[in-house]
Amino acid sequence: MPPIKMDMPTILLFLFFGNLIIAGMLAVYSSNTIVYSTNRQYLLGKIMQSVAWILLALRGYIPDLFSAYIGNSVLIAGLALEALALVSVATGNKKCTIFYTLIVAAFLLVFWGFVRRPNEYVYVSSFFATAIFLSVTVFLSRSGKRSILRYLLSGVFTLSSVVLLVRGINAILDVNYRLMSNEFSQNLTFLSTYFLMIISGSGFLLLQRERTDNLLKIANQELEQLAHVDSLTNLANRRKFKEHLTYGISESRRRAEPLALIMADIDFFKSYNDYYGHIAGDTCLVQVAQSLAQHCKRSTDLIARFGGEEFAIVLLNTNATEACRISELLRKEISDLAIAHAGSSVSDSVTLSLGVFSATPTSDEHDYDWFILEADRRLYAAKHAGRNQSVCA
Ligand code: GH3
Ligand code: MG
Ligand code: MG
Repeated sequence: MPPIKMDMPTILLFLFFGNLIIAGMLAVYSSNTIVYSTNRQYLLGKIMQSVAWILLALRGYIPDLFSAYIGNSVLIAGLALEALALVSVATGNKKCTIFYTLIVAAFLLVFWGFVRRPNEYVYVSSFFATAIFLSVTVFLSRSGKRSILRYLLSGVFTLSSVVLLVRGINAILDVNYRLMSNEFSQNLTFLSTYFLMIISGSGFLLLQRERTDNLLKIANQELEQLAHVDSLTNLANRRKFKEHLTYGISESRRRAEPLALIMADIDFFKSYNDYYGHIAGDTCLVQVAQSLAQHCKRSTDLIARFGGEEFAIVLLNTNATEACRISELLRKEISDLAIAHAGSSVSDSVTLSLGVFSATPTSDEHDYDWFILEADRRLYAAKHAGRNQSVCA
């Protein structure tokens, strides 16, 4: 097989067009989506790199001031911007901005201040590019997030920095080394830079996608929370309660087990609000809710805020005797809280009336409405019988 030989201007032109295409695609993508600041950084980094590659490709045709000095400066700044955008997207913070600013400043100082010979152009820019590439690997591994995509990016950046390092060392050893030398490490460098360009470009977009997916996941969890949790008491809300009771009924029917529903209502709560104010009323609701929740320990139990000052407790595989015992326990628990209630005619403190119903559902009529109706009926019986009590039959 004949050895693959490409002359340097061709490779540099490929790098110019490659970066330009990625910049163009990113610009089109950014025009109709949420534009993150990292997107703009990456775009600018790519534009700078394509400008740099065209300046470098014109070595010999334009003065060294433009080709070597401005070309390499724009290249290093462009690479630093690309690395910054990539690392910011991957880690979710911009702490490394200072690091990249310092790298670029140091490069400008060294390159413009001390570099005079063509082989010096090569090794100084190689070593700074090595530092930038390696930093990507270091920042990615320090972020603590693991994924194949991150390993791949780290691997490619490390590999490219090794190749650059070899090129830099070759340029130190050979004083006649220059950008257009068609030397092996030179060829390898630009080919690996070319692949890095492709992998980094797609990796950047994929990492951005990963971040968007994570934000979406968090937003969905919050939405789920909002849809199922009562905002005042943090108990399950009515929607969740309906879901759970419906599920409980079908489970109990399948297993031929009893299901219990307890409806609890605070006594004279309207007077509590009238006497202590609505804010104190809210605080009282939270206290009662927390206390009740402590007694619903089984994973299949569910306590929900059914509405206003009314709570509903679903207990799977619980017969009437056991449910009644739990109901009395809850009632005692609330009266033991001894929350002063001057507006109550049954007690000095806040009390509950509870309706308890337990049954083994056997037919379609034994549905959600039936359980609510039966438990509610007993709750009103408890109210009419003088409040602060459980009615179980
Ligand atoms: P009963 O013993 O018969 O249950 O009498 P009650 O006063 O508790 O019942 P009623 O249904 O007449 O009043 C319920 C009160 O609960 C009325 C309403 O202001 C209050 N309430 C409902 N939701 C909230 C809430 O979120 N916060 C506060 N502070 N009060 C609420
Ligand atoms: Mg009430
Ligand atoms: Mg009520």
